Amino acid sequence: MKNELVCVECGRAYPVLSGRVKCACGGQLVPTPPEKLGRVNAPGIWSWANALATAVFKSRATLYEGNTPLIRASRLAEELNLREVYLKDESRNPSGTFIDRGSATLVTAAKSLRLTRLVAASLGDLGVSVATYSRRVGLRCKVVMPSYTTPVKAYQTAMLADSVEYVESYKESLSKAWKYGSAPANMPVTPQNPFLLDGYRTLAMEILTDLSTKRPGVVLVPVGDGALAYATIQIVSKFSPNTTVIGVRASSKSPLLKDVAVDRPLFADLLKELMDCSGGYMIEVGEDDVVSALKLLAKCEGMLTELTGATAVAALIKLSDDLRGTSPIVSIISGGPARDPAVLRMVVSEGHPRYLTRIGFTKMKILEILALQGPLHPYAVWKILKGEYGVNVSLRSIYQHFSELSEMRLVEGTEEREGRRRRKVFRITDEGLSLIR
Ligand SMILES: [Zn+2]
Repeated sequence: MKNELVCVECGRAYPVLSGRVKCACGGQLVPTPPEKLGRVNAPGIWSWANALATAVFKSRATLYEGNTPLIRASRLAEELNLREVYLKDESRNPSGTFIDRGSATLVTAAKSLRLTRLVAASLGDLGVSVATYSRRVGLRCKVVMPSYTTPVKAYQTAMLADSVEYVESYKESLSKAWKYGSAPANMPVTPQNPFLLDGYRTLAMEILTDLSTKRPGVVLVPVGDGALAYATIQIVSKFSPNTTVIGVRASSKSPLLKDVAVDRPLFADLLKELMDCSGGYMIEVGEDDVVSALKLLAKCEGMLTELTGATAVAALIKLSDDLRGTSPIVSIISGGPARDPAVLRMVVSEGHPRYLTRIGFTKMKILEILALQGPLHPYAVWKILKGEYGVNVSLRSIYQHFSELSEMRLVEGTEEREGRRRRKVFRITDEGLSLIR
């Protein structure tokens, strides 16, 4: 096993010990593919130590991630008229997603390289996972996330990270993570970090070995930025070249899937190149598809998953006619069990996703501030958000939040006279109060 990171653009190789996260040419660094797959007796993903680039570090972090079950889903297969379907249940990981596999290799490297702080850009799950593992080994962790993040992920991150900054967009969180993370003794953590990719590869290693001598016909992988799909294709194309990898994107137009959907995956070009060579392809799913998947998983297999974790199963349903002759099929489930009452209510009451109001972190905070402090002008709320909660967004976008909250009837504006000036102050409505209680 060569413990090296190689640039996909120019081919230059760096030893893992260099701690490089990007090539000098600016290209993506990836760990070299392992020569063979074999397990050793070690906890968590470190049972794959022989195949991991970061195994060069001897003090290894783990929370017993990985080794998730590959569950035969016979009733789901029957319902979809397919022969053999398996669900690789990544929700069993410590923080509920496959990202924990990468966080284990990432913090192991960072700690061994004597870094002191990680700076992660996150839509939700990545920040939670990296902060979890940072705490585990005593590294500091800052998370930069868009202010529209769902409150559950925002509060979990607040519990685990040393500091959180909320910005306007995912793009801004990526550039800030690179900027802050490039300081001495820091490391930027974006989906492109090769130390994350290293651990991600163990998911495909498990899928291939769990089926013993059989090889999957198709593996359906969720795609946010595409790092997991990249890591999966690297392993599958080497050890099971006849397996087709299908990448599943969540529609970025869907507010319910905003924690996993990105406009343009960071790995888009690399994935396209790899898939063109290997016969794989991408498919997009929307809210309705994912809600159907959630219902079918509960009905056939007794499994409850978060909406964002069921995208690959949604694709399986969508493609079931095309996949009729393919066997076995493996679909990855990621994300924890469904706990969000708004989502569960919608699914149970057969409501259409369109009617579901999903409030992001900033709106939730605005409601909380109004509930605590009484009627306020948006400018005053903006200052509180900035000063007390690290919400670093423009005044304009706060006005936009207020106008959307008014439309949803969660706040109510009244004109106030101050000398000759008129201004609008907002108070929270009973409906708004019921949301935050
Ligand atoms: Zn390069």
